[in-house]
Amino acid sequence: AKNLTGTTYLHYEAGMAANGSEHAHLGAELREAITGDQLFLVYQPIVSLDDGRIMGSEALVRWAHPTRGTLAPDSFIPVAERTGLIVPLGRWVIRTAFAQLAAWIAEHGEAAPGVLNVNVSARDLREPGFADGVAALLTEHHLTADRIVLEITETMALEPGQSVVNLHRLRALGLRVSLDDFGTGHSTLTLLHDCPIDEIKLDRSFTQAEIDGRPPVSAAVIHLAQALGLHAVAEGVETAEQAEQLLSLGYIAAQGYYFARPMPADKFSELLHEDRSL
Ligand code: C2E
Ligand code: CA
Ligand code: CA
Ligand code: CA
Repeated sequence: AKNLTGTTYLHYEAGMAANGSEHAHLGAELREAITGDQLFLVYQPIVSLDDGRIMGSEALVRWAHPTRGTLAPDSFIPVAERTGLIVPLGRWVIRTAFAQLAAWIAEHGEAAPGVLNVNVSARDLREPGFADGVAALLTEHHLTADRIVLEITETMALEPGQSVVNLHRLRALGLRVSLDDFGTGHSTLTLLHDCPIDEIKLDRSFTQAEIDGRPPVSAAVIHLAQALGLHAVAEGVETAEQAEQLLSLGYIAAQGYYFARPMPADKFSELLHEDRSL
């Protein structure tokens, strides 16, 4: 596998996050960032485990902070959630990701870029107009719904009321829903029973546990997925051994540094020009 980008991202120091005024300041800066072109998306390929073919990508947000360098989402998504800025941020992410997918399709043809996975926050899912907003953006960019996978986490999917209404509506439109960080929540089986989903993403802690000789949660998860007719993707694959083990367990698709790190849109486009496999 090629190591495609060597970029490192700065994180805010832990002490800073605990500081209230620093948080308020960051919130004000984030508001500017959303309207002022400081956010950008990187894309991490999702590949077929048996031949390395690119099946799609996941969009991941970054903040080109004017003085602090490029910030990773873990340092500002929590602030966005607390301040309500996650709603305009989420809208920006979906709009930008859909426009990018449309551009790749125009450049490389209908099939080449595969599906696009987009992370959705709990707050997004609670917005009454969320599903309709997504549908409008699909139409605007001439995209069919089956090109999009929305990644949600377990706690979100369990929220009764509007969240479940939105999930059903999105799936009725033809979008797929993926359960992110699968296995790290507390009510996994209840959720699988109650909630409309299409795919589960094995959390990287389980992907990476295999080499330590711990009990193979990844084996149990693939059996569960197969029994329920769900697509399973393993995230955080860093070594050839992990990739081989997942393939032998029956996983079809995976994502991780072993195949490629998240990269700018033009780099992903270059990959689509090349052999389209990693
Ligand atoms: P996630 O959705 O679980 O995303 C996977 C994270 O794992 C990404 O970190 C990715 O860069 C990293 N990763 C990928 N492969 C490997 C690997 O092989 N090894 C290791 N150690 N890490 C790997 P990133 O981009 O920093 O994102 C962190 C989290 O921020 C995401 O976790 C997601 O929960 C959240 N996030 C990212 N973009 C968005 C967004 O647009 N909207 C929302 N609401 N949340 C986002
Ligand atoms: Ca994700
Ligand atoms: Ca994940
Ligand atoms: Ca994660």
